Amino acid sequence: MLRTTFSSGQISYSEGDAHGCLWDEARVPRAPAAELRANIKRDVVIVGGGLTGLWSALALKEKRPELGVAILEAAQCGFGASGRNGGWCSALFPEEMDHLTDRVGYDLAAAQYEAMRAAVTWVGEFTTRHGIECDFHLGGTLMLATNPAQVDRLRTAAEHSADHTWLSTEHARVRVRPAHLFGASYTPNCAAIHPRKLVDGLVALALERGVEIFEQSPVTAISPGSARTSHGSVQAPAILRCTEAYTTTLKGHRRTLLPIYSLMIATEPLTESTWDRIGLANRETFSDGRHLLIYGQRTADNRFAFGGRGAPYHFGSRISSGFDSEPGVFDNLAQTLYSLFPQVAQAAITHRWGGPLGVSRDWTASVGFDRISGLGWAGGYVGDGVSTTSLAGRTLADLVLQEDTDLTQLPWVGHRSRHWEPEPFRFLGVNAGRSLAATADWFEDRSQRPARRTEWLMKQLLR
Ligand SMILES: Cc1cc2nc3c(=O)[nH]c(=O)nc-3n(C[C@H](O)[C@H](O)[C@H](O)COP(=O)(O)OP(=O)(O)OC[C@H]3O[C@@H](n4cnc5c(N)ncnc54)[C@H](O)[C@@H]3O)c2cc1C
Repeated sequence: MLRTTFSSGQISYSEGDAHGCLWDEARVPRAPAAELRANIKRDVVIVGGGLTGLWSALALKEKRPELGVAILEAAQCGFGASGRNGGWCSALFPEEMDHLTDRVGYDLAAAQYEAMRAAVTWVGEFTTRHGIECDFHLGGTLMLATNPAQVDRLRTAAEHSADHTWLSTEHARVRVRPAHLFGASYTPNCAAIHPRKLVDGLVALALERGVEIFEQSPVTAISPGSARTSHGSVQAPAILRCTEAYTTTLKGHRRTLLPIYSLMIATEPLTESTWDRIGLANRETFSDGRHLLIYGQRTADNRFAFGGRGAPYHFGSRISSGFDSEPGVFDNLAQTLYSLFPQVAQAAITHRWGGPLGVSRDWTASVGFDRISGLGWAGGYVGDGVSTTSLAGRTLADLVLQEDTDLTQLPWVGHRSRHWEPEPFRFLGVNAGRSLAATADWFEDRSQRPARRTEWLMKQLLR
């Protein structure tokens, strides 16, 4: 086990190494599903066995149990972000309400946001109905202002939001007690979940419903009517691409989505008296108002699971398991957690892991299905995929089955984001954005004033 202690801004390690992904400890032991080693025909083939693929398969089977639905997964179901995330099942949508309103008008934007709120409770009801025990707890989210520079940003966002309330420092302290607190915004629309338990529960249910799952079966080519691996193929009139960050590895999609790495750490279980000093009694998920995103949850077994951005983007949108581990980023995360909550300064960091998430060029998630080619997709959730994938899966099912429903009217349906820039511009722009975010946070921490110039520069880069 890795023991990390915090003193005078230094991280020191002792006692061996930390384990990988915390959530994997709850993995349900099962033999891997078969590889695809034949040429078969089905009604729908889904490429990617993460949450998007699983929710889509289940939604199709729920509506039409007789459909032949196959999932082709390159590794094991839940291998991607779905099995490694921070476990926020939130109503967050990557495109801000103001931007979406400018693009599609208020009514459609409001409908999209309402669908996101509904998706959170939908996941809770679905998992309860099907006996999937994934530690779902609807405790809401606290966005903490941890320095005065963050106050205006968070308070203004709360005032413009339909479901956030601004809490004074005094009221916020009732829920959470970080070292520095200048108020917080609160929304009830987020549950903390255990990602691996959710994925494994969905896999079991999908198999029970007759979905065929092929694992260790990377798809090498998708074309209308067929998805091929190196050992077989599935011919189907409908093919759904559910590969999120890994989309970049598919032919013709190198610039469709950008893989950004998010990394996480977990502490050992903390005592009840430590939690009494920290708060988060309702397992509220939490973040703060900094630019370089951090996120955390109190797990059902009383640990902190805590993550953030800050890992580099890799030239050419490369994805590699080696990139899941960045010692410098893990150190920063531990240091950030300890400075937020000095109550845990003596706690061991027991797990460290990471993975890629998918970002579209306009930071907009989308779902779509082309009736002529029979090709569909969903993704670009940035870091907000846990609930959004359920909305995507149900929407994809309606689109494939050609049913016009409230879901198929939402503005993210059929949206096409433009491609990312070619290299080296992508590499330079994305990593410059990351450095600017870190610089802005550094400036705000020291000056206690908003880093307006740096924010302006970041906006120019993101356009
Ligand atoms: C560290 C981290 C923390 C996060 N925290 C949160 C959070 O707290 N809340 C939240 O809402 N979101 C969070 N996210 C994002 C969220 O996890 C994702 O948006 C979501 O899981 C995406 O699901 P998916 O099924 O679309 O993609 P993935 O889970 O990435 O699944 C894609 C699957 O496709 C497979 N695949 C790839 N290529 C091929 C191929 N050629 N053939 C066949 N299969 C292929 C992969 O092996 C993978 O299993 C986080 C992400 C990360 C990495």
